[in-house]
Amino acid sequence: MNARAQKLVEKLEEPLIVTTPANVRYLTGFVSSNVSVVVEPERVRLFTDFRYAGAARIVPDVEFVETRRETIAHMAEFLSGTFAFESTNLTYRDYEQLRDGGLELIPRMGLVEGLRAVKGEDELEQIRRAAAITNQAYERIAEERFVGRTERELAWRMFEFFHELGAEEEAFDTIVAAGANGARPHADSGERVIEQGTTVVVDAGAVLDGYCSDCTRTFATGELPDELQRAYDVCLEAQLKGLEAARPGIEAKQTDAAARDVITEAGLGEAFGHGLGHGVGIDVHEAPHVAPTSTDTLVANNVLTIEPGIYLEGTGGIRIEDLVVITDGEPEVLTSFPKELVTVS
Ligand code: ZN
Ligand code: ZN
Repeated sequence: MNARAQKLVEKLEEPLIVTTPANVRYLTGFVSSNVSVVVEPERVRLFTDFRYAGAARIVPDVEFVETRRETIAHMAEFLSGTFAFESTNLTYRDYEQLRDGGLELIPRMGLVEGLRAVKGEDELEQIRRAAAITNQAYERIAEERFVGRTERELAWRMFEFFHELGAEEEAFDTIVAAGANGARPHADSGERVIEQGTTVVVDAGAVLDGYCSDCTRTFATGELPDELQRAYDVCLEAQLKGLEAARPGIEAKQTDAAARDVITEAGLGEAFGHGLGHGVGIDVHEAPHVAPTSTDTLVANNVLTIEPGIYLEGTGGIRIEDLVVITDGEPEVLTSFPKELVTVS
């Protein structure tokens, strides 16, 4: 049993059926769309069908069990007794199949996710490399012409940069949102032509060795209207306050509040409708959650984003997002592209 599975075992009240692909990957290194892992105190079993058998057989520290294509239904034949399952992932149909196979099932959540929130040195190194690629892609996009091109064209350029720089894929579809479209936090990059004298929000991240990075910068296409310039200044101050409050032992909702208070005091609280940040790792959104409703407390080796935004309906949006590692002192900021407003042509 490897060290990650061993740590999980110490947290379990009963054996756990792991079906969330990112959790399977974390525990075993195995990647498949049809796999379940059962973690018990004395062993880890990996169930998958013949298509993945060759790869599954060489996974270290697990017992491989080949199943029919219907892995979950067949798996029940190898198990008996009481098992926990991941209630945020197992489908109701899968649940019924396990139950009909005679298993006693207990819903649990966040067990593996809790371990994943605290990165090992090897994981930190992979995320640093994914972030370095992202930094370089931002250096390159800043050299591009913005005015007169569509959001989609620039999103495609980011995609090309990531691949040229060695990324496996994008962590998510790059968002390029100009002008009024930037007032939507999860805007689609569309056919809108970018105009002069507005903001362009660019949110992008690379995946390397299965680990994500995440960054947002907001560019100006010439001199901004006072309202947007002021919003940028407030957002930047909020971002810096958020970084200052990103310390181990602090409740994540306090980190959120440190940034949010700046925006609220500037009279723009209504324009910041999302949480301050999120954990990043195998998934681009994972624990810990940095938001007013969060119950998480930050600890060293969390990797998370600090990304306040100000969205002015009908006018434009601002978001500034850094990826950071929580350390015993100041956070290690993995995002190197300047945060001061960068003007593009
Ligand atoms: Zn982002
Ligand atoms: Zn993010």
